[in-house]
Amino acid sequence: MTAKLIYDFDEHCEGGRAVLGGKGLGLAEMTALHLPVPRGFTITTEACRHHLANPGSLPAELLTEIEAHLLHLEETTGQGFGDPTNPLLVSVRSGGPVSMPGMMETILNLGMNDAVIAQADPSAVHFLLDDYRRLIQMYGDVVAGIDGALFAEAFDAFEAIEEGAPGHDDLSALVDTFKDVYKTATGSDFPQDPHEQLFTAVAAVFDSWNAPRAQVYRAQAGIPEDAGTAANVVQMVFGNRDSMSATGVCFSRDPATGQPGLYGEFLPEAQGEDIVAGTRTPLPVIEMKKILPEAHAQLVAAVAALEHHYRDVQDVEFTVESGHFYLLQTRGAKRTATAALRFAVDMESEGLLTRNEAVQRIDSAQLEQLLHPTIDPKANLVVVATGLSASPGAACGVAIFDADTAAARAADGEDIVLVRPETTADDIHGLLPAQGILTARGGMTSHAAVVARGLGKPCVAGCAALDIDLDARIAKIGDAVLREGDPVTINGSTGEVILGLAPLVEPEPDANLATILEWADGVRRMKVYANADTPLDADRSRKHGAEGIGLCRTEHMFMAQDRLPIVREMILALTMEERMAALAQLLPMQQSDFEGIFEAMVGLPVTIRLLDPPLHEFLPDPSEVEDVKIRERIESLREANPMLGTRGCRLGIERPEIYEMQIKAIVRAALAVEKRTGVLPIVEIMHPLVAFGSELERLVELTARTVAEEGGMEYKVGTMIELPRAALRAGELAEHAEFFSFGTNDLTQTTLGVSRDDAQGRFLTFYLQHGLLETDPFQTIDVEGVGELVRTAVKRGRATRPSIEIGICGEHGGDPASIAFCESIGLDYVSCSPFRVPVARLAAAQAVLSAGVAYVPAGG
Ligand code: ADP
Ligand code: MG
Ligand code: MG
Repeated sequence: MTAKLIYDFDEHCEGGRAVLGGKGLGLAEMTALHLPVPRGFTITTEACRHHLANPGSLPAELLTEIEAHLLHLEETTGQGFGDPTNPLLVSVRSGGPVSMPGMMETILNLGMNDAVIAQADPSAVHFLLDDYRRLIQMYGDVVAGIDGALFAEAFDAFEAIEEGAPGHDDLSALVDTFKDVYKTATGSDFPQDPHEQLFTAVAAVFDSWNAPRAQVYRAQAGIPEDAGTAANVVQMVFGNRDSMSATGVCFSRDPATGQPGLYGEFLPEAQGEDIVAGTRTPLPVIEMKKILPEAHAQLVAAVAALEHHYRDVQDVEFTVESGHFYLLQTRGAKRTATAALRFAVDMESEGLLTRNEAVQRIDSAQLEQLLHPTIDPKANLVVVATGLSASPGAACGVAIFDADTAAARAADGEDIVLVRPETTADDIHGLLPAQGILTARGGMTSHAAVVARGLGKPCVAGCAALDIDLDARIAKIGDAVLREGDPVTINGSTGEVILGLAPLVEPEPDANLATILEWADGVRRMKVYANADTPLDADRSRKHGAEGIGLCRTEHMFMAQDRLPIVREMILALTMEERMAALAQLLPMQQSDFEGIFEAMVGLPVTIRLLDPPLHEFLPDPSEVEDVKIRERIESLREANPMLGTRGCRLGIERPEIYEMQIKAIVRAALAVEKRTGVLPIVEIMHPLVAFGSELERLVELTARTVAEEGGMEYKVGTMIELPRAALRAGELAEHAEFFSFGTNDLTQTTLGVSRDDAQGRFLTFYLQHGLLETDPFQTIDVEGVGELVRTAVKRGRATRPSIEIGICGEHGGDPASIAFCESIGLDYVSCSPFRVPVARLAAAQAVLSAGVAYVPAGG
């Protein structure tokens, strides 16, 4: 251990939060601001780390240091630790560098013992006994590990007697009972020596860093395991002393709505946790004005001073002892997205924040909450299970257990929720019309979750309690039963599964969101495009501020019910005539799809990706086909590994007539829209899964020839970069391409050699749980690996063609951390699902504002 392990609240500590923890730092800063804080000192996280590595009692050098600071505390308070006539009592409070609310331990009233009670002034005996019984219970629980139920039972029995004899209030009997509980459980008497109490309390508070619930919390919140907690030794102040005493919690503004003005509660004649324990109902803070007017005024002033100092909304704990006001804790308030926006906009107009700071204050990922329908908060709900909150928003409908039935019943106009063990690409026709998706297996980036987020549909994934019997068409959820056709509601923002149709409310347009996004737009450099396949999505994207479509996938257009039979004819055709006939039927359909999208996006670029998936995805299961010839034909198209087989541009090269049809449809649509609106759509034609320069050369030539055949028009042609070879050979590809778009989903799969659908819920989840990976590379771009390929491709592409336009269109395009990476390497745009457009606008601005901390690769 290094020299200094303890800091008084009024001592400066260079290490700040990492050394003192958040609570300790807050106490020190409030002390420096001359706010009314009880005195005390902080034992550092380093002392904790040392203790955890050397379990048992605390080392002598630490005990000596504690004694020295205790002596100083006695001098400044004028009280004596262990002096029965003028006792100093203290709390020992946990508090790590990152807030972990309620996960670790705190013990109040240390220093209390029989001698203090024996010497007490008669007027003080009652509240001192109340302190004593609390100490025995908390110490018994935290230090001695006694089952809390034993104290709770004794307390209930005591209260029952009290009710029979009001005013009797024999707390000394309760203290005796608690001492008996302690002795029975531990075999020894409750320790009377205040120093022994304090030292063992500090060790136990350090140990609470490793409480199982704290470990679980850290794992899910991404808090480092080795940080350790500080222990704050704080002079007690007593909210339970008399009728002029109280304890409370208060936010400087409403953390749910963002409304200015104090928002909090207090409880007269109470201590510490009583307020959250729920045994008595607290009063709104405004009531303090009547009962404790001076303390209320001090609370108002203190909270204002704290907001001013931190320039952020604070969440404080306070106690009033006989009319005297004390602050015990302050921290940045947790807030809803609505509140966060209002805080930022209000604080800018109050001069507390600059515009750029206001933009930086919003958690961009949280914004998505605001853009989906939600469950009416006033509704009474029957929540039967909770899964992962995989895609936000709420959805209602009847439960349907397979994609075919889902597609059929949705076509009949029913609202459906697709309920599956998990989903695959084959379920797309059931996913598309569903209101929401519920799966029993799979993680945050499972197929269902990714597709749902892309479509802006609510999804609860990995709901382990859901036991689906696909044959019986029934799902068991604990004791509840969900039959096919039963109404069900899912809340993708919380992961809740609710029986019945819960009432939904549309999100209100948020004026503060519009303001923040306007400020963000003034700052960001990259453009934000949307991935949109339908006119509806195109329209929605534009409303959310998209400046173009970065990825329009054409395969969904082939999946629609009325098209699929023709698509199948086209694929299975044995002669060129048959195939051309089918394509001729598809052409006007594609054309009308494109017209709709072009019209929605007039004046903005639309990037259309030609057909990408392997053909078998459009074909029925061969075992279900009667006709032998057709069955054989389907089987002949079967591939061992279709993801790496005949798909993408490989298909377009082998069967150029498919791409020709698509290009013709694009040109005809563009010219038709020009005729109607007077504006020629800005068309970008994109070729998927290119690996070789020769492929792209041939496709660019095919594109030019086909456009010319249709009479010609202005357009751009480019390629997806989604294979490592394409990234490495970007210099050559740029000779043919006017733009690049990184398909980072496939690029991640092909760079890592990992199939996403096979990895999630299996080894990838294991890797994340066991710390082999910190983040899911399908959610946040793998900067060191995939990112290095992207960086290389950008450099080589621009070397060949400086004007080349480069963007990203994978799932990562809507992920704030990945967006920051895109900014750091100078991409021109990010493209994401329509609902994520506001998130991306904000994240792109934040990436500019924090450009100083952008990623720098090792050795790069
Ligand atoms: P948590 O992190 O769980 O909130 P705290 O250390 O903040 O735990 O303490 C628990 C409760 O006890 C809080 O309500 C706090 O205000 C109160 N408390 C802690 N120390 C003191 C003290 N010295 N005097 C009065 N109340 C205290
Ligand atoms: Mg607290
Ligand atoms: Mg791809």
